[in-house]
Amino acid sequence: MMRDYKKCEVCEEFDWTDTHKCPPKMYFKHEDWGDEWQEIHARHMDDAAIRVGKMYNENGDHALMNDEIEVIIKNGEEEKKYLIV
Ligand SMILES: [Zn+2]
Repeated sequence: MMRDYKKCEVCEEFDWTDTHKCPPKMYFKHEDWGDEWQEIHARHMDDAAIRVGKMYNENGDHALMNDEIEVIIKNGEEEKKYLIV
């Protein structure tokens, strides 16, 4: 039986390619990335905030900064503000 366990290019989760379903699309906003809402795939809003924090920390420009960043996550009509260290 041939099955691939791979990282999804859309949501970056590891899963079986034949049964994988991307998590729902949400949006986030952070001042460093401009005023536009940016797409992110996440299981829920807290998950989205964690993913944004990871992306932020992987960005070389900010690797040496330990400041909290403020991120707004939007899921449908609901918006929540997160502080990520
Ligand atoms: Zn996916």
